[in-house]
Amino acid sequence: MVYTDSHAHYDLKHFNNNRWSLLAECRRRGIGAILVPAIRPESNDTMMQTLDVETYPELLPQLDAEGVRPEELPEIYYAAGVHPTRVWNGTEEDDGWWEQKIRSAAGKKKVAAIGETGLDYHVELTPEMRERQMEWFHRQLRIGEELELPLVLHIRMADDDAISILKRYPLRQSGVVHCFNGGWETAREYLNLGLYLGVGGSITLEPYRASVGEALKKAPLDRLLMETDAPYVRPSWCTDPVNTSLVIPALARELAEIRGIQPEEVEQATTENFWAVYRSRGRHSSMENRLDG
Ligand SMILES: [Zn+2]
Repeated sequence: MVYTDSHAHYDLKHFNNNRWSLLAECRRRGIGAILVPAIRPESNDTMMQTLDVETYPELLPQLDAEGVRPEELPEIYYAAGVHPTRVWNGTEEDDGWWEQKIRSAAGKKKVAAIGETGLDYHVELTPEMRERQMEWFHRQLRIGEELELPLVLHIRMADDDAISILKRYPLRQSGVVHCFNGGWETAREYLNLGLYLGVGGSITLEPYRASVGEALKKAPLDRLLMETDAPYVRPSWCTDPVNTSLVIPALARELAEIRGIQPEEVEQATTENFWAVYRSRGRHSSMENRLDG
């Protein structure tokens, strides 16, 4: 049995001092697979250059320096895309090379999804910023559809607009509403679209705790994935300065408590769901074999 973290940013500088020993520790504590989504357009190159030891053996001395062997690491997959709060750093002239970067990353075998993409209204947007967000949300929805890759969705204070846009797409390839922190009515809309909900630190945080708890109690267990958004969204009880996948087992226990079931059921279901969403590129069997061995 094994946990998964469907959303974490281990390419970021927060992890520069202990990236490999931390990841090995995650694996020892049962985190078998992690999905790392792109944030900036450049992340589509740099996330794998920072983390993918198989493609970039020049990373091996870094592992050595931390006393870690590659086989001690969790499986790491990626999502190619650009985050909704990064799209207004570019202009129309950038659109071409951004899309090229996303498409070229999406062709790599460890890239299992498109994202993170969506809408984020937590800062006040000018009409131009809003237009860029919409444009890049639609663009990535089209790329996901064309390449049949599931979506990693970042939707913050924008559920109504996001849902009405998502309804215009067939969403055959599904996706995950990352860091879901809405109530049951919102959850039901996403679930009806065939999407999954990412369960992370926000279930421990006010003011989401009560409403998200109700939603996660009513949502079918086969539509929930565990996530951290590491280094962000620290659970209320987390005393480490940055959030990491090490909080996943405790978050799973909280979810089990909310639903009145055993933590093992949460572990098993959310890991199965991880592979159900990312199966097109996932290597479930090889990972299970490795963990059993
Ligand atoms: Zn994220």
